[in-house]
Amino acid sequence: MSSDSDSVSGAPRSVAGPVRNWAGNITFTPSVLHRPASVDELSGLVADARRVRVLGSGHSFNRIADPDDRDGLLVSLAGLPSLIEVDEAARTVRVGGGVRYAELARVVHTHGLALPNMASLPHISVAGSVATGTHGSGNGLGSLATHVRGVELVTASGEGLSLSRDKDGERFEGAVVSLGALGVTTALTLDLVPAFEVRQDVFRGLALDVLEAEFDAITGAGHSVSLFTGWQHAGFDQVWLKRTETGAPRFPWARPAEVAMHPVPGMPAENCTPQFGAPGPWFERLPHFRPEFTPSNGAELQSEYLVPRSAAPGALRAVAAIREALVPVLQVCEVRTMAADRLWLSPAYGRDTVGLHFTWLPDGAALAPVLGRLEQALAPFGARPHWGKVSTIAPSALGALWPRMPDFAALVAELDPEGCFSNTFVREVLGS
Ligand SMILES: Cc1cc2nc3c(=O)[nH]c(=O)nc-3n(C[C@H](O)[C@H](O)[C@H](O)COP(=O)(O)OP(=O)(O)OC[C@H]3O[C@@H](n4cnc5c(N)ncnc54)[C@H](O)[C@@H]3O)c2cc1C
Repeated sequence: MSSDSDSVSGAPRSVAGPVRNWAGNITFTPSVLHRPASVDELSGLVADARRVRVLGSGHSFNRIADPDDRDGLLVSLAGLPSLIEVDEAARTVRVGGGVRYAELARVVHTHGLALPNMASLPHISVAGSVATGTHGSGNGLGSLATHVRGVELVTASGEGLSLSRDKDGERFEGAVVSLGALGVTTALTLDLVPAFEVRQDVFRGLALDVLEAEFDAITGAGHSVSLFTGWQHAGFDQVWLKRTETGAPRFPWARPAEVAMHPVPGMPAENCTPQFGAPGPWFERLPHFRPEFTPSNGAELQSEYLVPRSAAPGALRAVAAIREALVPVLQVCEVRTMAADRLWLSPAYGRDTVGLHFTWLPDGAALAPVLGRLEQALAPFGARPHWGKVSTIAPSALGALWPRMPDFAALVAELDPEGCFSNTFVREVLGS
């Protein structure tokens, strides 16, 4: 690997050598990663390029970020000056396109403010997470993209474009979960709430029939609730309950964990955020994984399917019915909830949603037939695949799952008529 350096700061402006995603299952087509040091430099790069894709923190498991073109530019915004501007009176933060949640959360908290929710890990970039509809859990909480109230893009001409929730209505709703297809997100403005404390408790042994009978009460037992199973049996091994109320939780459906837990069997609990009800700031409890450790397992692939909340019991039964096929390739399955939203390509567009997530062993060949079976089992429930994870669903089938896909295709055609920000993934999804 070699790099060109900025003569002033010494930071690398481009890095040459195979560029891979976090999981290591994707090698991107260009062998250079460009790291502009300013938005002006970025705009110049974009204006001169035929094809550009941004790589966020690289936590997606598919080719969504790949330009699929040896001469295309793969650009990281990690070299831009870190932008985190909190407006305490408006309760908003303007955050740069390369910033990760761990850094953002620490700064926001010093202002007595908070994000309403976080994903399972704080290691991921805000812009990349929003672009793929990344989410945490909570019956009343939308995906992370629902926090966005303003989007700032560098478009294909190299010029800037700002869209806001207040002024741009439907165009804004189309532009937030963008798959990186509309331009380079240089900044996002996010809604904040007053800082809050969370206590996290883990419970063991929740039977599937109990979950079915008490789905609303169980998933509503906290600000954020996650259920984990390895599907060795028809039930859940762990329930992670994140509550804003002080005092011990009443959770009669499972027994309290006796030792600190990691959701993935065999992984150390010290990688995880504090449990046993110790109250702490929101950003040290809402993610499962601590920023200074590898999240999850590290050696893995992931898939996720998002079904309407009303279909969740049937979808869980359908997964349980094929659990013996899943077990040999599965590390852990996580079930989470999220509130409906109006963002065109959001996983929760138009429907309260339940996410069925799967952390697999990193064996793509063994996984492929299992994914096919799982996707067949979940198809009757209108399951939408996560934009950043592994799926074998034909892209041509996705239009039927996101009713605003034709509107999104029109927005792409308007903002990027030459396909500067396109790639195979986006073209297949749009059917173009
Ligand atoms: C260990 C692990 C745990 C995870 N947990 C969760 C979870 O709890 N919930 C969940 O929903 N998902 C989860 N994911 C998936 C992850 O959140 C998504 O893959 C997300 O996209 C990661 O953000 P990123 O910056 O790494 O995106 P990347 O993979 O780098 O990029 C994703 C897309 O965003 C685009 N993009 C990135 N930055 C920009 C920008 N500035 N401008 C324009 N386009 C941009 C890219 O071009 C690409 O199309 C997890 C992944 C891992 C590896």
